[in-house]
Amino acid sequence: TEACLKAIDAADVLNAFVHKTPEIAMERARAADARLQAGDAPAMCGLPIGMKDLFCTEGVPSQAASRILDGFRPEYESTVSANLRDAGAVMLGKLNMDEFAMGSSNETSAYGNAINPWRRDGDDTALTPGGSSGGSAAAVAADLCLAATGTDTGGSIRQPAALTGTVGIKPTYGRCSRWGIIAFASSLDQAGPMTKSVRDAAIMLGAMCSHDPKDSTSADLAVPDFESLLSGDIRGKTIGIPREYRVEGMPAEIEKLWNDGTEMLKAAGAKVVDISLPHTKYALPAYYVIAPAEASSNLARYDGVRYGHRAKLAQGDGITEMYEKTRAEGFGDEVQRRVMVGTYVLSAGFYDAYYNRARKVRTLIKRDFEQAFAAGVDAILTPATPSAAFGLGEMTEADPVQMYLLDVFTVTVNLAGLPGITVPTGRDAQGLPLGLQLIGRPWEEADLLNTALALE
Ligand code: GLN
Repeated sequence: TEACLKAIDAADVLNAFVHKTPEIAMERARAADARLQAGDAPAMCGLPIGMKDLFCTEGVPSQAASRILDGFRPEYESTVSANLRDAGAVMLGKLNMDEFAMGSSNETSAYGNAINPWRRDGDDTALTPGGSSGGSAAAVAADLCLAATGTDTGGSIRQPAALTGTVGIKPTYGRCSRWGIIAFASSLDQAGPMTKSVRDAAIMLGAMCSHDPKDSTSADLAVPDFESLLSGDIRGKTIGIPREYRVEGMPAEIEKLWNDGTEMLKAAGAKVVDISLPHTKYALPAYYVIAPAEASSNLARYDGVRYGHRAKLAQGDGITEMYEKTRAEGFGDEVQRRVMVGTYVLSAGFYDAYYNRARKVRTLIKRDFEQAFAAGVDAILTPATPSAAFGLGEMTEADPVQMYLLDVFTVTVNLAGLPGITVPTGRDAQGLPLGLQLIGRPWEEADLLNTALALE
């Protein structure tokens, strides 16, 4: 814990930690020592971790990297962070992210972007760690903590993991409680670990999951001992390669990465088959209707009354001006854009044309996966991202849709509620990490982690 706290102070330039909690860390580290001495060693005992700013942590600023939550210190702890604490984990501080988890580069954060510790060979340009869990990815990649929490609504664990050479798993929807995690799009949001290795991900995921009556979508299922189920043996497993993920303009190095991964799984004894997920091309448009729709509703609570920022009012301003000024000052551009899109697609005249249509498409996407699994596929291998880490500003300079297109390989998994994991499996021509994604059957994270181990 002391070494991590020192490393964090020495790495302020990465802007990964937005709020440090050294006192809490030292107190928990001492408690972990005491537990160990008493012969009680839970899964995460004494392990220093970072916490994404989206998790409510008791008495500690929890702002979802937004100005609108300035000064908010929750009186309660999220279920996932409480589970980790109870399993002995030591929280070092809160991690940077895109505002309300909306983004793929950490550039929408009110704290300014986090920076990727990786650099292109012979080029000092600062790169993004991806997003929205960019601070988590940067912190793990830079060894500021042993692991970190992330959340994933459309790829926010798997994409930053790919861009920083780390492992990130989004479990099946309902595996981790959403209670106390600041909501973005409730039917898509899931928490998961970001770690150095598949084994670490198995250990930490087990500590994060639980059935929680406080989240009505939390699954009442026993949590397997994921680590003990890791054998690395995938002989006889069937891996599907979906042809629709071979998107137009896919860089040769991503194509090669994907082929190399396929060969690795074959060499480990898996059977590889071509499959079709025919509705894949509708996933991005459906996601960018559903996610903003849910966000516009979830974010209605930030009104300057209950918590966080409230605008200074002029003489004669009433409650409407208070709402308007507070929200205009408190929310950044991307969040405002999503609230507007979401409100539009839910409005009386457009509900059927957009929101309802997107929901139907979502069902078709889910069915594509169900059919593949019913045909005997155990896991699906795809690229995690269309490129390696990119420069700051590179994607935002054009138009916001450029950034949305980066989520092409990850959003289907959230729409279908499936578990997905990113494993670093190669480098691009400039030495930057690249990752592959494995998608598993619902509730079969143990199997997914085991297959991922064969890729590592
Ligand atoms: N990049 C996607 C978005 O901006 C996904 C974000 C996430 O998973 N939280 O919505």
